[in-house]
Amino acid sequence: MVDNFAQLYYLDSYQSEFTAEVTAVKEEKNKIWLSLSQTCFYPQGGGQPGDQGILQLIEPNNQTVKVFDTIWSDDIIWHQVDQLLAKGTSVVGQIDFAKRYDLMQQHSGEHIFSGIVNREYGYTNVGFNINSTEMTFDFDGDLNWAQIFEVETEANQAIYENIPIEIRYITQSEQDMWTYRSKLQLEQNIRLVIIPGYDICACAGTHLARTGEIGQIKIIKRESYKGGVRLTALCGTRALRYFQNLFQVIQNVGEVMSANPDNLLEKIINQQSEISDLKFQINKKNKAWLDLFVQKLQPNTERIILTNPEFDKYEWKYVCRYLSEYVSDFVGILTSKTQHNQLLFLYSNKQDLRTIIPELKEKFNFQGGGNASLIQGSLETELSIIKNFLNRIT
Ligand SMILES: [Zn+2]
Repeated sequence: MVDNFAQLYYLDSYQSEFTAEVTAVKEEKNKIWLSLSQTCFYPQGGGQPGDQGILQLIEPNNQTVKVFDTIWSDDIIWHQVDQLLAKGTSVVGQIDFAKRYDLMQQHSGEHIFSGIVNREYGYTNVGFNINSTEMTFDFDGDLNWAQIFEVETEANQAIYENIPIEIRYITQSEQDMWTYRSKLQLEQNIRLVIIPGYDICACAGTHLARTGEIGQIKIIKRESYKGGVRLTALCGTRALRYFQNLFQVIQNVGEVMSANPDNLLEKIINQQSEISDLKFQINKKNKAWLDLFVQKLQPNTERIILTNPEFDKYEWKYVCRYLSEYVSDFVGILTSKTQHNQLLFLYSNKQDLRTIIPELKEKFNFQGGGNASLIQGSLETELSIIKNFLNRIT
């Protein structure tokens, strides 16, 4: 049983170093776990991941043990480590404080946002998770982007106000005196995280001392989820990195488009419309070219084999379909990848093309497939040989 005094992160969430003794050891499924007489390592829980860091042996050789994860199991805090240590070993523990601080920025930011949503819309936060890149929270009611922007603006106002975040323990009998958000039915002493004016929530996680340290909160995604909404959010340095990347992308796209962020969208829309016009013109010209081609066909033409045509592979199907109306057998396109390697595209609405696949495989190591009316793939042969083969096939 871990007593409150052994959970150093509750005495000071900024403490990153401590001394302790190994009190228990276990090995399970190729993982080694240690418990310590006291610890700054926060065990995974309430949506917040477990801390990582190192344990340094005091004697005899300052050996370093890595801590990959921390969990709470059977009322014991277990540290997953890379080396077995004997019970009673003295260690100096050091958490990866940069990671912990980042998690505290996310977690405190989530409380403010959820507190405002609860106050303004009456929705409850029914799911919360922080991973190494982003945090998600789920509400039991929907929010559109306009509503999200409003809450986000107010949450950032709470950050600018740099309000002290208070931690207070209340007994079961004091519960009625407080109104707070809680996911669990709590029976013993309750730990309240209080952000005056914005939120009071029962929570076991580690938090910042003041809201200003959150830096900023930004929602970057909304999805419908179980009749409510799931939001993805970034706080602190994560939000800064996100905007730096976004800025870089917009700068790069702006350079390509010769536009600044203010007229970038307009330029892209204009370009899209130019591309549509060009596609229309190309299709018109293709059709005219195909009509001329058809006029030159001998009566009763069986099949057409086009080699290395000018038009690209996106137009092959269209061309083959068009021409197949004028032939009694099939239309094919052959393009050379190299002198000995050809791409084949064959179309017919008259015969089942699958019947020629075995011979193509046997003679030319055909790699590909298709259905009755269309086959495509590569062939290991020269262009003239496969062309002759296709012209002579019966
Ligand atoms: Zn919390």
